[in-house]
Amino acid sequence: MSQGGQKRRQKQTITRSVTHIRLAEANSVKLAALDALAPVYLALCQQYVTYFCTEELPNKFSPTIFDTSLAERWQRVAIQQAAGIARSWRTNKANAYQDYLDDLLEYHNREIQGKLEEGEKEPTWREWNIPTLRQICIQATDHVIALEHSHTDTFDYWLRISTLEKHHPLRVPVKLSPYHIEALTDPKTKQRRPINTSVTLNKRDGTWWLTLTYDTIIPIQTKPDAPVVGIDVGIATFLTTSTGKHYGTFHGKLRDRQKRDREKRRRKAKLRACLKKKGVQKLPSTSSKSGQRLARHVRQSINRAVNECLQGHEGYQIAYEQLSVKTMKYKARAMNAYLRASNLAHIPEQLAWSTAKQGIRATKVKSAYSSQECSVCHYVDRANRPNQQTFCCKACGQRMHADENAALNIAQRRYDEELRACTDRQAVKALLIRRHQEWRKAHSGWS
Ligand SMILES: [Zn+2]
Repeated sequence: MSQGGQKRRQKQTITRSVTHIRLAEANSVKLAALDALAPVYLALCQQYVTYFCTEELPNKFSPTIFDTSLAERWQRVAIQQAAGIARSWRTNKANAYQDYLDDLLEYHNREIQGKLEEGEKEPTWREWNIPTLRQICIQATDHVIALEHSHTDTFDYWLRISTLEKHHPLRVPVKLSPYHIEALTDPKTKQRRPINTSVTLNKRDGTWWLTLTYDTIIPIQTKPDAPVVGIDVGIATFLTTSTGKHYGTFHGKLRDRQKRDREKRRRKAKLRACLKKKGVQKLPSTSSKSGQRLARHVRQSINRAVNECLQGHEGYQIAYEQLSVKTMKYKARAMNAYLRASNLAHIPEQLAWSTAKQGIRATKVKSAYSSQECSVCHYVDRANRPNQQTFCCKACGQRMHADENAALNIAQRRYDEELRACTDRQAVKALLIRRHQEWRKAHSGWS
């Protein structure tokens, strides 16, 4: 299946998690051994995170280099987990740095052309902090934690955990709730699903929680020649399609709730400062329950918008943006005060997840300049966006909803191999400038 262009996948594997399986406190003696192990593990994992972020490239097969009381196989697990954390940190940082260089270049270009806005400052780069592991989280392989079937009716599995003491593995019983059993049973065959051998243990608020995962294979239903719908994601409108439809918004109710929540937090912060001055020891917490509820509510609204969008485009294949730090900053700019970019990142994540689950073909495309490029003549200019909602091309005069213009660009990029091959934003820009010149030639006869 390798002829011409990309390989077409006909099925995909998705991994599902079953979370919040509580390790019962009745095993307090056993869990104490786990409690003893956790900080040692966390400290070692942190050492490798720092090492992989500063000295060496992340490598899950790295030789062991730090002294620890943990056995070799525990060290391997720590190295693997640390390499994963460091790898995503390095990728995010490299992307952000590339964005910064792009901003800097654009800034100097506009400076030369005398187009800088009043009081505009040169972009600066702030060095990123190394990730700090605060929560206890162990992503274990079956070399250190193995899940074994129980042969009694009182509980479902044994977790066999190697501890600091050699040859003294712990055996902790795992009892599933009816909810977990349902999640782990295949509804068609009524059989327990095959569970993956790597498990995750978390400790939060004094309780140990187990997460199990299993894989399902989903055939892709979308026909190979299905029409493409491009989806632009944003905050003012969660999803805008190249077919001219809009789904979900942060404005209205959600924004009002966010404002109320912010006010509440401000009052709380003032109260804390005041109490602190008076020497009060026990201060009210800064974390806000209503803030957490709001975040959940935003996510639910996003999920609903994604489902409606997919239902409204049966038989289509999906093209959506690979969001970079820069696009997120750009798109969230007007909303920064009341929305963190993490909510924006949830939209493409949910798109990827929902399409995979339903067997819909979905392709990520480059996001560079998708909101500044004219979908008709390819002219790229910030000035094409006189305001957040409007796109008005300075070259050909094309005028339309800004998000719809972006969605059209995204749809066009689905089969654009030339653009896919561009390694950075400069290359994308050069390509789009060339295309605009070709468009001009084709539309102006002699000039
Ligand atoms: Zn144009």
